[in-house]
Parts: sequence; C-alpha cells; structure tokens
Amino acid sequence: MRDTASPSLPFIDLQAQRRRISDLIDQGIARVLDHGAFVTGPEVIELETALAARANATHCLGCSSGTDALMISLMADDVGEGDAVFVPSFTFTSSAEVPALLGAHPVFVDIDPDTFNMDVDSLGLAVAAAKAAGLRPKVVMTVDLFGQPADYERILPLAKDEGMWVLDDAAQSFGATYKGAPIGGFGRVTTTSFYPSKPLSCYGDGGAVLADDTDFFERMKRVRVHGNGGGNGEVSRLGLTARLDTIQAAVLLAKLTIFDEECDLRNEVAARYSEGLSNVVKTPQIIDGATSVWAQYTVISPARGAIAETLAAEGIPTALFYPNPVHTHAPYKKYLLNNSGLPVTEDLARQVISLPMHPYLDAESQDRVIAAVRSAVGA
Ligand SMILES: *Cc1c(COP(=O)(O)O)cnc(C)c1O
Repeated sequence: MRDTASPSLPFIDLQAQRRRISDLIDQGIARVLDHGAFVTGPEVIELETALAARANATHCLGCSSGTDALMISLMADDVGEGDAVFVPSFTFTSSAEVPALLGAHPVFVDIDPDTFNMDVDSLGLAVAAAKAAGLRPKVVMTVDLFGQPADYERILPLAKDEGMWVLDDAAQSFGATYKGAPIGGFGRVTTTSFYPSKPLSCYGDGGAVLADDTDFFERMKRVRVHGNGGGNGEVSRLGLTARLDTIQAAVLLAKLTIFDEECDLRNEVAARYSEGLSNVVKTPQIIDGATSVWAQYTVISPARGAIAETLAAEGIPTALFYPNPVHTHAPYKKYLLNNSGLPVTEDLARQVISLPMHPYLDAESQDRVIAAVRSAVGA
C-alpha cells in the first residue's frame, strides 16, 4: 500500500542540480542569445578545450549526440561492407546500430557477469567466428556500461594482435578513471553523450568525440560538417550535420563547474546502496584500479519483478537496462554469428534492475529505497 506521507522519488533529479547553478546556466544561455553564434560558437570551442583537458586527450569535437559521435568515428575510417565491429549486446541500441547503418557487421560479444562489460574471452571467440564468416575484423567498440570502464588492459592487446582499433563508447562513463587515467585515451577514439540522463548532460541532445591522433581527428572534423574542410568550401568526402548547439555547450560549461563534486556524490550514493543491499541482491562490482561515475546503479536479483512492484507501490521508480539485449531485436537478429547465443547477457537481462541514482539523492530517501528492496526480497 502506498504510504501517502512519502512523496514519489525521482529516478534522476535534474531540478535539484539546476537549483544549485541556475544563475550560471541562465547567464550562459543569455550570452549565447546575445552574441547569436548559435552553431559552433565560442562556447563550443571553450567546451571542447575543457573536455579534452579533463580527459587528457589532445583533441575534442563537440557533436549532436552520442550516436552521431559513434557515426563520425566509424565514417572517418570508412568502416562499411565486409567489416566486423565487435560490440556488446548488453548496451543501448546505438552501439550496434551505427555499424549496421554503415553496412558493416556488428558482431555481438558476451559480457562479464560481474561488471556488465565486454568479456575478453568472448571477444576472442567472436573474432574467430567473424573471420570464419569471411568478415574483416576492424573495430572493437567497448562500452563502459553504467559508468564503469571496460577492462582495457586485456582488450587493447587482443585488438592490436588482430589489427583492430578500439572505439570506446563512453556515453555512460565520461569522468570515470582506469588505472589512474581518465576515460578518453584508451581507444583510438572515445565518444560520449550529453543526453539528459547521462552523468554529464545538457538540456537536449549532444555528444563529443575525443582523440589523440591529429590526422584522424581532422577527418572526423570533416565528417561532422558535410565533409567540408580547409575553410575554402571544398568538400573532400561525405559527411553529416552533426554539430553541437552553442546553447547546449553553454549549459555544459555551467554543469562542468560542479561535475567533479557530483561524481564524488554519486560514489557516496553508490557506497550507501551497496552497504545496505549487498547481502540481499548482487550489488555492482568495480574492477581493480577503476572508478565509476555511476550512470546507473544496477543490481542483479532473480526477484527483480517483486522488487519493481514493491518499489512502485512505495512511489520509487526503477528502470530495466537492458531487458532485451540488442541481438534479440528484429533488425539485429541476423547479425548473431553463433547459435549458442550470449548466455551471460541473456541471463542478466532477466535479472537486472536499476535504482534511483543521482548526486542529490539524500540518505533518508536512500534508506526508503533500501528498506523497500529488502522487504521485496523478504529480508
Ligand atoms: C546513451 C547512449 C548512447 C547514445 O547517446 P545519444 O546521445 O542518446 O545518441 C550510445 N551508447 C550508449 C552506451 C549509451 O548509453
């Protein structure tokens, strides 16, 4: 029974964040309205510089979404027909959609049951299967799921041995670290998204691409705007309209001022959850030497249906990421290369449930969530 004394909790509280920095945000947007450079204005350049510095990357390119960031990266290398792009199936659709749109073959890789990230042994098997099917192994697209880095120390050597480059889909992990270094330099290219639900977000769609390789970066820059380059209107290749709006860059610059602190707060929230829940559900595990930005706090339980119901009755929203792995959706079924499926992916898809997670989740609200989960599983 819903206790009317307890208000509904938000899953993500963007208004609490806004209350902290509304002056900065409003002033930033007003400046853009005044100067009128709505596309690739000074705020975009300022943001690109700040993000590159924060990620220890040589170059950053703001773009229109996390999906377009992936598209820009693969188009810059002319990935297409006959190319295999290795990608987890336990991810948001875009990771597989972009190679498929380009005519390449997304090859699905299973995940590690503790981290939700690409399993390196499964990657090896997928590469062998792709070669046997006559495909050219081209790109490993790691996805740092729920905010935690993939296991780069193991993935990078395998990619190199097979002549592939690594594209880090860091839509959920910008701000995380791996072996002391920030996300942004592990792959040849790192992409991120500023969709409102991501840890660093804008007020609409936005994304970015990070890279060290200057030649490759210049190619991506051309793809971003119709293949234009050199400033003389010459079109050197096919491209997109994939720029970041200046207003969104202004919003992101304001939010960047508190982003480090928000990452710390997210870690405190995650620690409180794990303390209260680790003996009743499987709580998230972070690999040695990594930090997470907790895009989601996702637990594993055979009782996830009961957890969802009990929490809903208490006014606590939950979400399922991802109940249907990408390879089970109609457009992607044809890409699965083995008949044995992706057992870990399919098993976790039935058991995961994500709890409210944002930097402003106070201890009292969190105790309500913890108590509700505990009661749902009969603890
Ligand atoms: C959100 C997300 C994307 C897509 O980002 P958009 O900005 O929504 O296009 C891609 N990959 C992953 C893993 C994501 O979580």
